[in-house]
Amino acid sequence: MKNKTEYAKYANLSPFELKDSLIELAQSHSDRAMLNAGRGNPNFLATWPRQAFFQLGIFATQESEMSFSYLNEGVGGMPIKAGLTGRFEHFIRQNYNTPGVAFLGKVFSYIRDQLGLDENAFLQEMIEGILGCNYPVPDRMLHFSEDVVKSYILQQMGAQYLDRDNIDLFAVEGGTAAMAYIFNSMKENGLIEKGDKIAIGAPIFTPYLEIPELNDYQLVEVLINSDPNLNWQYPESELRKLEDPSIKAFFVVNPSNPPSVKIDDNSLKIIADIVKKRPELIILTDDVYGTFADDFQSLFAICPQNTILVYSFSKYFGATGWRLGVIATARDNVIDKAIKALPNKTKQILNKRYSSIVTEPENLKFIDRLVADSRAVALNHTAGLSTPQQVQMVLFALCEMMDSDQSYKNALKSLIRRRAASLYQHLGMQHKTDENSVDYYTLVDLEHICRELYDDKFAKWILKNKNPSEMLFRIADEAGVVLLPGKGFAVQHPSARASLANLNEYQYAAIGLSMRKLAEEYYAEYKAKINN
Ligand SMILES: *Cc1c(COP(=O)(O)O)cnc(C)c1O
Repeated sequence: MKNKTEYAKYANLSPFELKDSLIELAQSHSDRAMLNAGRGNPNFLATWPRQAFFQLGIFATQESEMSFSYLNEGVGGMPIKAGLTGRFEHFIRQNYNTPGVAFLGKVFSYIRDQLGLDENAFLQEMIEGILGCNYPVPDRMLHFSEDVVKSYILQQMGAQYLDRDNIDLFAVEGGTAAMAYIFNSMKENGLIEKGDKIAIGAPIFTPYLEIPELNDYQLVEVLINSDPNLNWQYPESELRKLEDPSIKAFFVVNPSNPPSVKIDDNSLKIIADIVKKRPELIILTDDVYGTFADDFQSLFAICPQNTILVYSFSKYFGATGWRLGVIATARDNVIDKAIKALPNKTKQILNKRYSSIVTEPENLKFIDRLVADSRAVALNHTAGLSTPQQVQMVLFALCEMMDSDQSYKNALKSLIRRRAASLYQHLGMQHKTDENSVDYYTLVDLEHICRELYDDKFAKWILKNKNPSEMLFRIADEAGVVLLPGKGFAVQHPSARASLANLNEYQYAAIGLSMRKLAEEYYAEYKAKINN
């Protein structure tokens, strides 16, 4: 066990770096397993769309082997279009009982009967895509892949009523790639400059705090703080900070990480009102957790012209290793307007930058600038997400859309909510939730625990006398449980973030018990001190 000064030296590490020290400590006892509840990586995953992917791959390689088969050397060719559908239907009938095959048959029907797409052309895109035998064309996203994923995004983001023909998607290597691309292109296009103010909804996923501070950007951060006493909603006075005309953009994670609540209807209305007063405000919303919320509505649905939407398939489908995400923008948006309104000199520089891509670079949309910038412009012709990745993305999206009774969604929701209940039950506390809670993460607030389990005086004593990272290190050392400090996510109270997505229920019980034991020990120490 470490002493107090040793614990203190970790205070300035980012939570994800601190995690490594915590893991080391938690693993230091060979007699027990480490419980890492610090990671956002889920321990569940969607199996059906994966089975479908692998079966489609088997069919696609058979198709490829129809060419050059006389060589008999493992050489195939581009899939042959003539008769493809018939051979696919035959494959489905022949292998109907193989896991994933019936799902593929349903996909084919859903594409035709429900989405009204040309199922033959769709199949061709999927077969060529899964073989990965062509560069991604169009580079922003394959044609049918964009169409299908757009339906999924609009449905899941509560934006069904938006005009789908006016929305563009860019398929990217996960939400983190989306963030990196967006920050970079905003800078390259003069939308954010050194010293500019950007507002950040806090607490927030750490990279959103760290990237703007990098010497590449040097932005000034204005925190819009959500309030734990309002179940982590943003008070109106905090949101109204966005009316400051010097704030260029608002970066927000919704539902939030770590508090894990969606922005409520009232706050959505307030933001819509602010946008009316400040039509030039750019909103970047990261809605990775939107698919876990009930009746979710994204800011993209409320203010489509102002909003860049980031969505990732990582969490909901248990697919962090796949690297799948999308960026969505409306065609008629304030970002493109801001680019058009740049000073002539800047525009000339930008026109030159993008002149190799299009004949009228001044009309190149922001989302297409993102694509070009993602490959240093000059390599634009090889930009884009790998085609097999796009195929898996399409199958994930279709799996959710075809699940009319929401069985996967309900199974995941009840799984993570039972874990939350188990943690708090063993901690001996009420777990407060409301209709906006998502519970992908939970923030255990040290002061709050002490007040609930004992009293206000003890809670105050704890705050004054105990270093919150000591709590994390003791829990890692004694119980082998890794949690991340809330502080690194700009949580204002001493707290720990536990993911409810990556351990099993009994392990959350162990975390609850371990924290309760620590509180009991601290209380005994406190009692002994005040009685002296
Ligand atoms: C986990 C997470 C991501 C990461 O997404 P990837 O698609 O895995 O890159 C992005 N944003 C938030 C808020 C997250 O919690």
